[in-house]
Order: sequence, then C-alpha cells, then structure tokens
Amino acid sequence: MFRKTLKLSLIALITFNFLTFLSITGHSEVAKTFSRHMISAANPLAARAGLNILRDGGSAVDAAIATQLVLGLVEPQSSGIGGGAFMLHFDADSQRVQSYDGRETAPHSAKPDMFMSGGKPIPFMAAAASGLSVGVPGIMRMLELAHMHHGKLSWARLFKPAIKLAENGFTLSPRLARMLATEHILRQSPDARGYFYTDDGGTRATGTLIRNNAMAATLRKLAKQGADSFYTGSIAQGIVNTVQTAENNPGGMSLMDLSNYRAVERKPICSPYREWQICGMGPPSSGGLAVLQTLGILEKFDLSALGVQSAEAVHLIGEASALAFADRNAYVADADFVSVPINEMLTRKYLDRRAALIAPNRAGGERRHGGLTSDSTHKYTPTNDDKGLSTTHLSIIDSQGNAVSMTSSIETVFGSRLMTNGFILNNQLTDFSFYPSRDGSQVANSAAPGKRPRSSMSPTIVLDKHGKFIMAIGSPGGSRIIGFVIKNLIATLDWNMAMQAAIDLPNFLNRNGPIELEHFPEVEPLKLSLENKGHRVRIIKSASGLHGLRAIAGGLQGGADKRREGVVLSD
Ligand code: GLU
Repeated sequence: MFRKTLKLSLIALITFNFLTFLSITGHSEVAKTFSRHMISAANPLAARAGLNILRDGGSAVDAAIATQLVLGLVEPQSSGIGGGAFMLHFDADSQRVQSYDGRETAPHSAKPDMFMSGGKPIPFMAAAASGLSVGVPGIMRMLELAHMHHGKLSWARLFKPAIKLAENGFTLSPRLARMLATEHILRQSPDARGYFYTDDGGTRATGTLIRNNAMAATLRKLAKQGADSFYTGSIAQGIVNTVQTAENNPGGMSLMDLSNYRAVERKPICSPYREWQICGMGPPSSGGLAVLQTLGILEKFDLSALGVQSAEAVHLIGEASALAFADRNAYVADADFVSVPINEMLTRKYLDRRAALIAPNRAGGERRHGGLTSDSTHKYTPTNDDKGLSTTHLSIIDSQGNAVSMTSSIETVFGSRLMTNGFILNNQLTDFSFYPSRDGSQVANSAAPGKRPRSSMSPTIVLDKHGKFIMAIGSPGGSRIIGFVIKNLIATLDWNMAMQAAIDLPNFLNRNGPIELEHFPEVEPLKLSLENKGHRVRIIKSASGLHGLRAIAGGLQGGADKRREGVVLSD
C-alpha cells in the first residue's frame, strides 16, 4: 500500500512538474549550471538589471540594490521603496554572515489598541488599506547601510536601470495585470488611479507599456542625494501628507518619525543542521528561529531514508514545524521591546525535548509552547496571517563569491493602497497583533512607538562545516514562508534535489494547525495517508516565490519559482 502510494505520488509529482513547467514558464533560463555569478529574482527585467551590475563588476549588494529598485517598479504589488526588507549577506573573504534589518517601525503615535474598535479588532482590509497601517519605510536606509559595507559601484550607478525603465516605460507583466484587474481599493487612490488604470478607471491589458515619471523623479533624487532625501524634505513630506490625509483611517506618521528611522545590522541566527550551518534572520522576524527550530527537531529523524514528499516525511516535518510555530506564536516579537528566549529556543537539549513529543506515525494535534522563561507579561502572540500573495525574494552571488539573500515587502498586495511620489506605501503595521492583551497579559507582538512588527520573512544562507557558502534561499508567502523555506532546505540538503526541482516540488507545511498541501494532480493519496495518521489536511493553492541558488561542484545552480514570474540569470 505504502509503496503504491509512494509510486503514485512520484508519478504525480513528475507530471505536476512537467505540466507546471509547460504552462507557467515562458523563460528559458531555468536551472542551468554556471560558474561566475548568478541572480534569481521574481521578474525578468529586475533580474536583468542585477545581472548587468554583476557584469560591470558590481558586488552582490550592488546587484541587490539595482534589482530591488526595478522590482519596486515592475512588481509594485510586492515590494518597493515604500516598504521594508531583511538582508543576509555572506562575505567570501571573511566567511562571515551578517544580517541587516530594514523593517518598518511604528510611528510615535502608535498604540497597542490602534487596530481595535469597540473592543473588537477592525476588519483586516479596513486596517490594511489605510493610513494607520503604514510603517516608516526601512528599505532605503537598509540598502544604504549594506552599500556602505559591501558596495563596489557608486550608489548613483545602481539607480540607472530603474530610472531608465520608469522614464521609457515597461510592459505590464501577466501577474501584475491580473492583480490590478482584481484590485478595487487602489483605483480609489488618485495617484494610483492615474498611473495604473485608464482615464475612465478601466484596467490595462498584459503587455501595455506604462511610464512612471513621478518614480523617475524620486529615484533621480535618491541617486543624487542619497537615502537622506527619502527621510527628509519633499519625499518625506509627501509620505506624511498621504498617510495623514488618507480617506480610510488616517495615520499619525510625522516627519520626525521618518528622520528618526535607523536600519540595524543584527547578529544573524545560525545553528547547525546535520553537516551544515544554517543562518537566518532573527527578531523582529520569526522566520529564522522557526526554520532553525524545525530543522533542529528534525535532526533526530533520518529524512534522507524517507521518500521525497512521502507521507512519513511530511508527517515528521509537519509535526516539527507545528512545535516551532507554537513557540513562535508565544515568544517572538521585536526583541528590542520584549525578551525573546532566542538561545534557549535553539539549545540541543530543548530541541531534543521537543522532538520527543513526536510520534512516528500519529499526529500530535495542536501544540503548546515549550514553557521557556520569557518576559512574563508578554505571553501570547496570536497569528493573524492567512495571506501572502505579495512580497518578493531575491538571491545573488557575485564573481568574488559574496552572496545576498533578501526578502522585501510592502505586506499585502499593493500594501496600504496609498501612493506618493510614484511609489506605494506599505501596510506592514498590520503584522502587529490587533489584540493588545490576552488573558490579562500584554501580547508580545502588540504595537508600540518605534517597535517593528513581527515578520515571517526568512532569508536564509547555508554554509558547509568549513564555513563555505552552499546556498541562498527565501520566499514570500506570509507565515507560510517558513514552511516554503523548510521544504526547500530539506529537498536540497536531505533529498539532494537540484535547486529548480526543489522549488518545483509541491509545497507542504504546518503552522500548528492542519497540514497544508499545495494542490497537484493526484494529491489525494498523500492526503489520505496523512489523514490516516490523524492529521487534518487542507489543500491550498500555493503562492510561494522561492528564489535560490546553490554552490555545486564546478559551478552554481539556480532556481526560480514558476508559480510567480521569476527567472535565474547568470554567466
Ligand atoms: N508582512 C509579511 C511578513 O513580514 C510579509 C511576508 C508576506 O506576506 O509574504 O511576514
């Protein structure tokens, strides 16, 4: 029975991959092996801009900046200069991994109950599409900091591709055109309406050429005057006016909030997993901790002996991830504001104790956190995130071997739906818990002035036991990001799959609820086997956007997620 199920699953998997490949990819540059430099990003125009920077001798950070600036233009539903990001950087000379935090901060006017009304949370979209949800954008300060540390080309040079595209125009990609067509609130914003829609408010078709002169002017200013020109002066004033005069729930962001913003270099969180060292982003992201805890628990099980995406493997991975999510929900928030027991969460002893809770063949149901000592007034952080069509991830390695893994976001699709100076403002503050307290205790992830909302973004870098670069990977997808990244790490490291095959593999994950399986033809046998183990199973349409690359003998191997519009480019 098991063998038959496995065989069926494998046939289904191969068929799925082939069909997905035929139906979604229009790009020829997928999964090749090269040796010099490589970029994997969510849009061909953006990846091309990054590749050209690498060809001109730019560093991985230089290429990341140029790519991000173009992404903000051509994939505006996902990320941009009005949002935030986390970047992991591997320095080939020192073999050091650094992490950069460009997460949005809450303005001075923020309050723990800012998303409550009459004792109840306001509906998610009313909170998201508003001035209230806009956090102080962090990405420009973060890119500036990373460029100061690792840039080789001039700052101004990195803006050229995006300025050219903004001025000369670019064609709407199928995904962007689709998202604009189904989006209703953005049309109400005067700036956005004039740019994204026809004069009578109609939608534009895929392939339509659009120009963004306001963005070109903003980028020119940033190129010339640096990030300061974003956080002070007319651009900052534009942000403040837009937030404060938003028709729906205006916010209180001030010029002072913008000029006070600081990007932070933080210690990345690194832990061993079998023969590798995995590094991720620490708080305010929950991503790194959840990925590392899950893998740490799974070290007790020989996944390589189990079939690729077999029910046994999915069961174990799901159980480990559920335990990690229970801890995430209880403990993780901005560690500059609440104490997060980072070290305890990753000790071998603690992870063994958590692993012992897993039965090889029986679902353990909803898990509780592990009772670690944390700030006793901050006990509970509910998850409020069943979303994830926005956000973007890019992975880059330059010819010196320096690598970047960066996840960047304006939160939901088209963020707050507010636009100023050619760019869209984020709604990242809705990543705070809407409930300020629970059972008499203040919620760890509640809003406060200057605080950064908890994220799930999980830019990851893998090293071998000698400290050499092995892999960069990450994905968008809301709190499902954690599961997408775990799947990819296990598929490449334990199951030895090529990067592209790992990305193509249907996603499966558990956020301490049902097991979520990405729909693929013949998913039923896997679903049934998991249900027989006592799992609740939910079939989902998956919106991962995994972009990764890997060092292999004789070169590099990349993969881009065909569920979105990503490509791998290299020489
Ligand atoms: N606001 C989300 C986070 O930081 C962005 C990720 C996503 O939605 O994909 O976790």
